Amino acid sequence: MSRFVYADNAATTPVSPLVLEAMLPWFREGYGNASSIYSKGRESKAALDKARDSIAAIFNAKSNEIFFTSGGSEADNWAIRGAAINQAKRGKKHIITSKFEHHAVLHTVEALAKQGFEISYLEVNSDGLIKLEDVAAALREDTALVTIMYANNEIGTVAPIAEIGALCRSKGVLFHTDAVQATGHIAIDVKAQNIDLLSVSAHKLKGPKGVGLLYVRNGVRIENLIEGGAQERGRRAGTENIAGIVGFAKAIELAYEGLEEKNAKTLALRNRLIDEIGKIERSHLNGDREQRLPGNVNFSFEGIEGESLLLMLDMKGVCASSGSACTSGSLDPSHVLLSIGLSHETAHGSLRLTIDEETTDEDIDYILEILPPIVNRLREMSPLWERIIKGESL
Ligand SMILES: *Cc1c(COP(=O)(O)O)cnc(C)c1O
Repeated sequence: MSRFVYADNAATTPVSPLVLEAMLPWFREGYGNASSIYSKGRESKAALDKARDSIAAIFNAKSNEIFFTSGGSEADNWAIRGAAINQAKRGKKHIITSKFEHHAVLHTVEALAKQGFEISYLEVNSDGLIKLEDVAAALREDTALVTIMYANNEIGTVAPIAEIGALCRSKGVLFHTDAVQATGHIAIDVKAQNIDLLSVSAHKLKGPKGVGLLYVRNGVRIENLIEGGAQERGRRAGTENIAGIVGFAKAIELAYEGLEEKNAKTLALRNRLIDEIGKIERSHLNGDREQRLPGNVNFSFEGIEGESLLLMLDMKGVCASSGSACTSGSLDPSHVLLSIGLSHETAHGSLRLTIDEETTDEDIDYILEILPPIVNRLREMSPLWERIIKGESL
């Protein structure tokens, strides 16, 4: 019995049929430019305003605090560069982040480091958790920005965002969080959580690719990243992607509808996967079991290559990932798995399965039926495994 199981929702998600339906009119008759003054333009502008209002309400933000972007990467780049360059005018050139951020954050701060900013990279503990005390200890007089991801894209661990937000606010330091993986799975209240800047992407929550947003709290000044026309109140140029933005709003609304029930269902499936996969000899769950996204499973299997595992799963119709989607194809082990203390060998033998409430019991049965024999087969062929079971040092 063969099936197709999509278990890579942290890489991207299929567009929900209701989202597609909401978008279609804006590809057909609704092609007007939202900046045009005739009615076809004004209809697009009205759709844009409505989408912005509905998204703002979900995050307890004001509509004028939501800026649409081309995705999560742009939102991260804009938040970090925009805040850093603005803060540097006041002599603040220190940025705090963590070792296991998404590359959209890490590569941005690395670029800023070359321009004279100083970066503190917080350690992540072996459970993949950030400690509030570490953030507190890293804060300085000249700290411009703290950027810590809400939930990690590889191991699903969730940071104490409200606590970090309160700490930063009390010290007058800007706080940005990459909430791309958390949005749609965790309720977010930017006011209660003292978040100044927040990045979201549509395609991780059943919306279209190429659309995202940056929440910028009123009163927070960041420099523009994209210059041009007066769109997004002069803060982010470019003719608005009305279809994409309408789809994004629909996707977020749908994601938060019945969230608790959906999370409970996903959690039950996920826990079954964790319990059963954990029975495979020398397998290790990566990331804290409790403080993690409901749909994330990440295991390392000693003595195997993650890439081979993915190919064999693919032949059986299962889409999964080893490390982050962006780094597959590169031979470097995942920086996230290294940050929680895994050896290069163990990090290479990792598997990420990211499921959601649409995953079925049968899908889980199927994964659990095919995975252990695949791991065994790969180990039989692995010289590394032979040395591991003989207890030789690697
Ligand atoms: C996917 C992802 C991004 C990038 O978002 P895009 O819309 O693909 O540019 C940023 N951060 C995290 C945590 C992600 O998972």
